Amino acid sequence: MAIKVDPNLNVIKEIQEVGGDTLKKCYQCATCATVCPLSSDEAPFPRKQMILAQWGFKDKLLNDPAVWLCHQCGDCSKYCPRGANPGDVMAALRLLVIKEAVPFKFLHTFYNRPLGLIVLPLIALFFIFLGMIATFQGMPNLFDANSFPYGGPHYDIWIFHLPARVLMIDVVFLPLAAFVVIILFSAINRMWNAYVETYKIPQAYRYGMWTILKTYFIPAISEILSHSRFVKCNANNWRANPHKFLLYSFIILALTTAIVFVMADILGFHTPWNPLTHPVKWLGNIGGILLLYGIIDIMVGRSQAEAEKSLRTSYPDSFLIYLILFLGLTGFGIEIIRSIPGLKNITSLVYLAHLVIVFMLFLGVVYSKFAHLAFRTTAVVFDLYFKDVVQKMSK
Ligand code: SF4
Ligand code: SF4
Repeated sequence: MAIKVDPNLNVIKEIQEVGGDTLKKCYQCATCATVCPLSSDEAPFPRKQMILAQWGFKDKLLNDPAVWLCHQCGDCSKYCPRGANPGDVMAALRLLVIKEAVPFKFLHTFYNRPLGLIVLPLIALFFIFLGMIATFQGMPNLFDANSFPYGGPHYDIWIFHLPARVLMIDVVFLPLAAFVVIILFSAINRMWNAYVETYKIPQAYRYGMWTILKTYFIPAISEILSHSRFVKCNANNWRANPHKFLLYSFIILALTTAIVFVMADILGFHTPWNPLTHPVKWLGNIGGILLLYGIIDIMVGRSQAEAEKSLRTSYPDSFLIYLILFLGLTGFGIEIIRSIPGLKNITSLVYLAHLVIVFMLFLGVVYSKFAHLAFRTTAVVFDLYFKDVVQKMSK
Protein backbone atom coordinates (compact mmCIF):
# COMPACT_ATOMS: atom_id res chain seq x y z
CA MET A 1 0.00 0.00 0.00
CA ALA A 2 1.37 3.42 -0.94
CA ILE A 3 1.79 5.87 1.93
CA LYS A 4 1.20 9.49 1.04
CA VAL A 5 3.69 11.83 2.70
CA ASP A 6 2.58 15.42 2.73
CA PRO A 7 5.69 17.50 3.49
CA ASN A 8 5.22 20.83 5.30
CA LEU A 9 7.29 23.00 2.98
CA ASN A 10 7.16 25.98 5.32
CA VAL A 11 8.83 24.02 8.11
CA ILE A 12 11.55 22.81 5.76
CA LYS A 13 12.17 26.40 4.70
CA GLU A 14 12.23 27.60 8.31
CA ILE A 15 14.81 24.94 9.23
CA GLN A 16 16.94 25.87 6.23
CA GLU A 17 16.80 29.57 7.15
CA VAL A 18 18.19 29.08 10.67
CA GLY A 19 21.24 27.00 9.78
CA GLY A 20 19.83 23.74 8.36
CA ASP A 21 20.37 24.67 4.71
CA THR A 22 22.11 21.34 3.94
CA LEU A 23 19.11 19.28 5.07
CA LYS A 24 18.10 18.13 1.60
CA LYS A 25 21.51 16.57 0.88
CA CYS A 26 20.86 13.69 3.28
CA TYR A 27 20.29 10.33 1.55
CA GLN A 28 19.66 8.32 4.72
CA CYS A 29 22.84 6.25 4.90
CA ALA A 30 22.70 6.27 8.74
CA THR A 31 26.42 6.92 9.18
CA CYS A 32 25.60 9.85 11.45
CA ALA A 33 23.51 7.82 13.91
CA THR A 34 26.27 5.20 14.03
CA VAL A 35 29.11 7.63 14.78
CA CYS A 36 27.16 9.84 17.20
CA PRO A 37 28.59 9.14 20.66
CA LEU A 38 25.42 10.32 22.41
CA SER A 39 22.68 8.58 20.43
CA SER A 40 20.99 5.65 22.18
CA ASP A 41 18.50 2.91 21.30
CA GLU A 42 15.86 4.60 23.46
CA ALA A 43 16.38 8.04 21.87
CA PRO A 44 18.12 7.66 18.50
CA PHE A 45 19.45 10.63 16.52
CA PRO A 46 20.30 12.43 14.22
CA ARG A 47 19.28 10.31 11.19
CA LYS A 48 15.69 9.96 12.41
CA GLN A 49 15.40 13.74 12.80
CA MET A 50 16.93 14.24 9.34
CA ILE A 51 14.09 12.20 7.79
CA LEU A 52 11.43 13.92 9.89
CA ALA A 53 12.84 17.31 8.92
CA GLN A 54 13.05 16.43 5.21
CA TRP A 55 9.37 15.47 5.34
CA GLY A 56 8.45 18.52 7.37
CA PHE A 57 6.97 16.51 10.27
CA LYS A 58 6.90 19.48 12.58
CA ASP A 59 4.90 17.99 15.47
CA LYS A 60 7.11 14.93 15.70
CA LEU A 61 10.22 17.13 15.79
CA LEU A 62 8.78 19.49 18.39
CA ASN A 63 7.91 16.62 20.71
CA ASP A 64 11.19 14.75 20.38
CA PRO A 65 13.56 15.15 23.37
CA ALA A 66 16.41 13.68 21.29
CA VAL A 67 16.69 17.01 19.46
CA TRP A 68 18.07 18.38 22.75
CA LEU A 69 20.35 15.48 23.56
CA CYS A 70 22.64 16.41 20.67
CA HIS A 71 25.51 18.65 21.86
CA GLN A 72 26.52 19.77 18.36
CA CYS A 73 29.95 18.17 18.62
CA GLY A 74 30.08 17.76 14.85
CA ASP A 75 31.23 14.11 14.79
CA CYS A 76 28.29 13.21 12.54
CA SER A 77 28.92 16.17 10.20
CA LYS A 78 32.56 15.17 9.89
CA TYR A 79 31.67 11.65 8.71
CA CYS A 80 28.53 12.43 6.68
CA PRO A 81 29.37 11.34 3.09
CA ARG A 82 26.94 13.87 1.62
CA GLY A 83 27.96 17.02 3.49
CA ALA A 84 24.44 17.22 4.94
CA ASN A 85 25.84 18.58 8.24
CA PRO A 86 23.39 16.74 10.52
CA GLY A 87 24.93 18.42 13.59
CA ASP A 88 24.00 21.84 12.20
CA VAL A 89 20.53 20.65 11.20
CA MET A 90 19.97 19.46 14.79
CA ALA A 91 21.01 22.94 15.99
CA ALA A 92 18.50 24.49 13.57
CA LEU A 93 15.80 22.13 14.86
CA ARG A 94 16.44 23.31 18.40
CA LEU A 95 15.91 26.91 17.28
CA LEU A 96 12.64 25.84 15.66
CA VAL A 97 11.52 24.16 18.90
CA ILE A 98 12.35 27.29 20.91
CA LYS A 99 10.28 29.40 18.50
CA GLU A 100 7.29 27.08 18.68
CA ALA A 101 7.48 26.66 22.46
CA VAL A 102 7.12 30.32 23.40
CA PRO A 103 4.53 33.08 22.86
CA PHE A 104 5.34 36.47 21.21
CA LYS A 105 7.23 34.74 18.40
CA PHE A 106 8.30 38.03 16.82
CA LEU A 107 10.83 38.32 19.66
CA HIS A 108 12.35 34.99 18.58
CA THR A 109 12.74 36.42 15.07
CA PHE A 110 14.71 39.38 16.43
CA TYR A 111 17.15 37.04 18.17
CA ASN A 112 17.75 35.08 15.00
CA ARG A 113 17.84 37.73 12.26
CA PRO A 114 20.16 40.76 11.86
CA LEU A 115 17.13 43.09 12.17
CA GLY A 116 17.26 42.28 15.89
CA LEU A 117 20.57 44.14 16.21
CA ILE A 118 18.55 47.34 15.93
CA VAL A 119 15.18 46.34 17.36
CA LEU A 120 16.31 44.50 20.52
CA PRO A 121 18.47 47.38 21.86
CA LEU A 122 15.55 49.74 21.13
CA ILE A 123 13.13 47.52 23.08
CA ALA A 124 15.64 47.34 25.96
CA LEU A 125 16.22 51.12 25.89
CA PHE A 126 12.46 51.77 25.88
CA PHE A 127 11.92 49.88 29.15
CA ILE A 128 15.15 51.13 30.74
CA PHE A 129 14.31 54.78 29.91
CA LEU A 130 10.79 54.29 31.27
CA GLY A 131 12.22 52.94 34.53
CA MET A 132 14.88 55.67 34.57
CA ILE A 133 12.45 58.57 34.08
CA ALA A 134 10.06 57.17 36.68
CA THR A 135 12.70 56.59 39.37
CA PHE A 136 15.03 59.55 38.69
CA GLN A 137 11.91 61.75 38.40
CA GLY A 138 12.91 62.98 34.95
CA MET A 139 15.72 62.27 32.55
CA PRO A 140 19.14 62.32 34.28
CA ASN A 141 22.24 63.63 32.49
CA LEU A 142 23.78 60.61 30.72
CA PHE A 143 27.13 62.39 30.44
CA ASP A 144 27.53 62.93 34.16
CA ALA A 145 28.10 59.92 36.44
CA ASN A 146 26.97 61.98 39.45
CA SER A 147 23.59 62.40 37.74
CA PHE A 148 23.32 58.84 36.37
CA PRO A 149 23.69 56.29 37.85
CA TYR A 150 24.94 57.85 41.14
CA GLY A 151 22.42 60.68 41.40
CA GLY A 152 18.65 60.92 41.73
CA PRO A 153 16.37 60.79 44.76
CA HIS A 154 16.27 58.16 47.51
CA TYR A 155 13.07 56.30 48.34
CA ASP A 156 11.81 54.93 51.63
CA ILE A 157 9.42 52.13 50.76
CA TRP A 158 8.21 50.19 53.82
CA ILE A 159 11.48 48.93 55.42
CA PHE A 160 13.56 49.52 52.28
CA HIS A 161 15.77 52.56 51.61
CA LEU A 162 16.43 52.63 47.90
CA PRO A 163 18.47 55.06 45.80
CA ALA A 164 17.01 55.75 42.34
CA ARG A 165 19.55 53.50 40.55
CA VAL A 166 18.57 50.48 42.67
CA LEU A 167 14.82 51.11 42.35
CA MET A 168 15.29 51.57 38.59
CA ILE A 169 16.90 48.13 38.29
CA ASP A 170 14.07 46.62 40.34
CA VAL A 171 11.24 48.16 38.30
CA VAL A 172 12.79 47.10 35.00
CA PHE A 173 14.31 43.70 35.76
CA LEU A 174 11.94 42.14 38.33
CA PRO A 175 8.93 42.21 35.91
CA LEU A 176 11.26 40.97 33.13
CA ALA A 177 12.41 38.09 35.35
CA ALA A 178 8.78 37.24 36.19
CA PHE A 179 7.89 37.29 32.45
CA VAL A 180 10.79 34.95 31.63
CA VAL A 181 9.99 32.54 34.49
CA ILE A 182 6.27 32.32 33.59
CA ILE A 183 7.01 31.66 29.91
CA LEU A 184 9.68 29.07 30.70
CA PHE A 185 7.54 27.29 33.25
CA SER A 186 4.58 26.94 30.89
CA ALA A 187 6.82 25.93 27.93
CA ILE A 188 8.60 23.25 30.00
CA ASN A 189 5.28 21.97 31.30
CA ARG A 190 3.89 21.62 27.76
CA MET A 191 7.12 20.08 26.51
CA TRP A 192 7.19 17.49 29.29
CA ASN A 193 3.55 16.45 28.73
CA ALA A 194 4.24 16.11 24.99
CA TYR A 195 7.29 13.90 25.65
CA VAL A 196 5.27 11.68 27.99
CA GLU A 197 2.57 11.24 25.32
CA THR A 198 5.04 10.73 22.44
CA TYR A 199 6.94 8.03 24.32
CA LYS A 200 3.67 6.48 25.54
CA ILE A 201 4.70 6.29 29.20
CA PRO A 202 2.23 3.94 30.94
CA GLN A 203 -0.03 5.54 33.59
CA ALA A 204 1.63 3.52 36.37
CA TYR A 205 4.94 5.29 35.66
CA ARG A 206 3.62 8.83 35.28
CA TYR A 207 5.06 10.24 38.49
CA GLY A 208 4.25 13.58 40.09
CA MET A 209 6.52 16.62 39.79
CA TRP A 210 8.27 16.15 43.15
CA THR A 211 9.14 12.52 42.43
CA ILE A 212 10.55 13.52 39.04
CA LEU A 213 12.56 16.37 40.58
CA LYS A 214 13.88 14.21 43.41
CA THR A 215 14.72 11.16 41.32
CA TYR A 216 15.86 12.52 37.96
CA PHE A 217 16.41 16.27 38.18
CA ILE A 218 19.27 16.11 40.68
CA PRO A 219 21.26 13.49 38.67
CA ALA A 220 20.56 15.55 35.52
CA ILE A 221 21.98 18.68 37.17
CA SER A 222 25.09 16.84 38.30
CA GLU A 223 25.51 15.55 34.70
CA ILE A 224 25.15 19.07 33.34
CA LEU A 225 27.55 20.58 35.88
CA SER A 226 30.21 17.99 35.04
CA HIS A 227 29.39 18.12 31.30
CA SER A 228 29.66 14.33 31.27
CA ARG A 229 27.70 14.00 27.99
CA PHE A 230 29.66 16.77 26.34
CA VAL A 231 33.02 15.10 26.89
CA LYS A 232 31.86 11.93 25.07
CA CYS A 233 31.99 13.86 21.78
CA ASN A 234 35.16 13.69 19.74
CA ALA A 235 35.32 16.25 16.94
CA ASN A 236 34.64 19.27 19.15
CA ASN A 237 35.30 18.09 22.67
CA TRP A 238 37.41 21.24 23.13
CA ARG A 239 34.02 22.94 23.70
CA ALA A 240 33.36 21.10 26.96
CA ASN A 241 35.76 23.16 29.11
CA PRO A 242 34.85 26.66 27.89
CA HIS A 243 31.15 25.75 28.15
CA LYS A 244 31.73 24.57 31.68
CA PHE A 245 33.50 27.85 32.53
CA LEU A 246 30.60 29.80 31.05
CA LEU A 247 28.04 27.78 33.01
CA TYR A 248 29.97 28.27 36.27
CA SER A 249 30.36 31.99 35.52
CA PHE A 250 26.60 32.40 35.08
CA ILE A 251 25.98 30.53 38.33
CA ILE A 252 28.48 32.79 40.17
CA LEU A 253 27.05 35.95 38.57
CA ALA A 254 23.48 34.90 39.44
CA LEU A 255 24.61 34.28 43.02
CA THR A 256 26.35 37.69 43.11
CA THR A 257 23.19 39.38 41.81
CA ALA A 258 21.10 37.64 44.48
CA ILE A 259 23.53 38.75 47.23
CA VAL A 260 23.55 42.34 45.89
CA PHE A 261 19.73 42.28 45.78
CA VAL A 262 19.53 41.24 49.44
CA MET A 263 22.31 43.60 50.60
CA ALA A 264 21.26 46.66 48.57
CA ASP A 265 17.48 46.33 48.36
CA ILE A 266 16.67 44.70 51.66
CA LEU A 267 19.52 45.56 54.03
CA GLY A 268 20.34 48.98 52.55
CA PHE A 269 24.10 48.52 51.92
CA HIS A 270 24.37 50.35 48.63
CA THR A 271 26.93 50.16 45.83
CA PRO A 272 29.44 51.26 44.56
CA TRP A 273 31.62 48.96 46.64
CA ASN A 274 35.40 48.88 46.26
CA PRO A 275 36.18 46.23 43.62
CA LEU A 276 39.52 45.45 45.27
CA THR A 277 38.40 45.05 48.85
CA HIS A 278 34.70 44.06 48.87
CA PRO A 279 34.07 40.25 48.94
CA VAL A 280 30.88 40.54 46.84
CA LYS A 281 32.89 42.40 44.21
CA TRP A 282 35.54 39.67 44.29
CA LEU A 283 32.84 37.10 43.67
CA GLY A 284 31.44 39.16 40.77
CA ASN A 285 34.94 39.64 39.34
CA ILE A 286 35.70 35.91 39.51
CA GLY A 287 32.41 35.27 37.66
CA GLY A 288 33.31 37.96 35.10
CA ILE A 289 36.81 36.56 34.50
CA LEU A 290 35.42 33.03 34.02
CA LEU A 291 32.83 34.44 31.62
CA LEU A 292 35.37 36.29 29.50
CA TYR A 293 37.79 33.36 29.53
CA GLY A 294 35.02 30.91 28.55
CA ILE A 295 33.59 33.01 25.73
CA ILE A 296 36.98 33.95 24.23
CA ASP A 297 38.02 30.28 24.37
CA ILE A 298 34.79 29.37 22.55
CA MET A 299 35.45 31.99 19.87
CA VAL A 300 39.02 30.79 19.27
CA GLY A 301 37.99 27.12 19.27
CA ARG A 302 35.08 27.75 16.91
CA SER A 303 37.26 29.50 14.38
CA GLN A 304 39.70 26.55 14.44
CA ALA A 305 36.85 24.01 14.13
CA GLU A 306 35.39 26.00 11.23
CA ALA A 307 38.74 25.94 9.47
CA GLU A 308 38.72 22.12 9.92
CA LYS A 309 35.09 22.05 8.67
CA SER A 310 33.80 20.19 11.76
CA LEU A 311 31.55 23.09 12.82
CA ARG A 312 29.70 26.02 11.29
CA THR A 313 28.76 29.13 13.20
CA SER A 314 25.27 30.37 12.38
CA TYR A 315 23.95 33.90 12.96
CA PRO A 316 22.12 32.89 16.20
CA ASP A 317 25.39 31.33 17.48
CA SER A 318 27.35 34.51 16.76
CA PHE A 319 24.66 36.74 18.22
CA LEU A 320 24.72 34.97 21.57
CA ILE A 321 28.53 34.74 21.63
CA TYR A 322 28.95 38.50 21.07
CA LEU A 323 26.18 39.33 23.53
CA ILE A 324 28.01 37.37 26.24
CA LEU A 325 31.35 38.91 25.25
CA PHE A 326 29.93 42.45 25.50
CA LEU A 327 28.29 41.58 28.82
CA GLY A 328 31.73 40.79 30.25
CA LEU A 329 33.47 43.75 28.61
CA THR A 330 30.90 46.36 29.71
CA GLY A 331 30.77 44.84 33.20
CA PHE A 332 34.51 45.27 33.69
CA GLY A 333 34.39 48.51 31.68
CA ILE A 334 32.20 50.15 34.36
CA GLU A 335 34.65 49.21 37.12
CA ILE A 336 37.70 50.39 35.22
CA ILE A 337 36.30 53.60 33.72
CA ARG A 338 34.76 54.93 36.92
CA SER A 339 38.11 54.66 38.68
CA ILE A 340 39.87 56.82 36.05
CA PRO A 341 39.16 60.47 36.97
CA GLY A 342 39.25 61.85 33.41
CA LEU A 343 36.88 59.16 32.13
CA LYS A 344 34.47 58.88 35.06
CA ASN A 345 31.60 60.59 33.24
CA ILE A 346 31.61 57.98 30.48
CA THR A 347 30.56 55.49 33.20
CA SER A 348 26.93 56.51 32.61
CA LEU A 349 27.02 55.44 28.96
CA VAL A 350 28.93 52.20 29.62
CA TYR A 351 26.51 51.41 32.45
CA LEU A 352 23.56 52.06 30.14
CA ALA A 353 25.10 49.80 27.47
CA HIS A 354 25.62 47.10 30.14
CA LEU A 355 21.96 47.33 31.19
CA VAL A 356 20.83 47.02 27.56
CA ILE A 357 22.93 43.86 27.14
CA VAL A 358 21.71 42.38 30.43
CA PHE A 359 18.11 43.07 29.30
CA MET A 360 18.70 41.37 25.93
CA LEU A 361 20.39 38.39 27.57
CA PHE A 362 17.62 38.04 30.16
CA LEU A 363 14.94 38.04 27.46
CA GLY A 364 17.18 35.74 25.42
CA VAL A 365 16.79 33.08 28.11
CA VAL A 366 13.52 32.25 26.35
CA TYR A 367 14.03 33.57 22.81
CA SER A 368 17.66 32.87 21.89
CA LYS A 369 19.97 29.87 21.87
CA PHE A 370 20.33 30.62 25.58
CA ALA A 371 17.00 28.75 26.03
CA HIS A 372 19.12 25.58 25.74
CA LEU A 373 19.78 25.98 29.44
CA ALA A 374 16.16 25.22 30.35
CA PHE A 375 15.04 23.05 27.45
CA ARG A 376 18.10 20.80 27.28
CA THR A 377 17.89 20.30 31.05
CA THR A 378 14.25 19.23 30.61
CA ALA A 379 15.23 16.76 27.86
CA VAL A 380 18.10 15.33 29.93
CA VAL A 381 15.74 14.83 32.90
CA PHE A 382 13.24 13.12 30.57
CA ASP A 383 15.99 10.94 29.08
CA LEU A 384 17.00 9.66 32.54
CA TYR A 385 13.34 9.14 33.45
CA PHE A 386 12.48 7.30 30.23
CA LYS A 387 15.49 4.99 30.43
CA ASP A 388 14.57 4.17 34.03
CA VAL A 389 10.96 3.41 33.02
CA VAL A 390 12.16 1.15 30.18
CA GLN A 391 14.41 -0.69 32.61
CA LYS A 392 11.62 -1.14 35.18
CA MET A 393 9.20 -2.38 32.51
CA SER A 394 11.69 -4.93 31.18
CA LYS A 395 12.04 -6.59 34.61
S1 SF4 B 1 22.92 13.11 7.42
FE1 SF4 B 1 24.60 12.31 6.24
S2 SF4 B 1 25.36 10.60 7.46
FE2 SF4 B 1 23.31 11.08 8.24
S3 SF4 B 1 21.93 9.76 7.14
FE3 SF4 B 1 22.04 11.68 6.02
S4 SF4 B 1 23.62 11.39 4.48
FE4 SF4 B 1 23.90 9.77 5.99
S1 SF4 C 1 26.55 16.81 16.52
FE1 SF4 C 1 27.49 15.24 17.84
S2 SF4 C 1 25.96 14.86 19.43
FE2 SF4 C 1 24.92 15.92 17.76
S3 SF4 C 1 24.07 14.32 16.51
FE3 SF4 C 1 26.05 14.83 15.64
S4 SF4 C 1 27.47 13.41 16.57
FE4 SF4 C 1 25.62 13.37 17.80
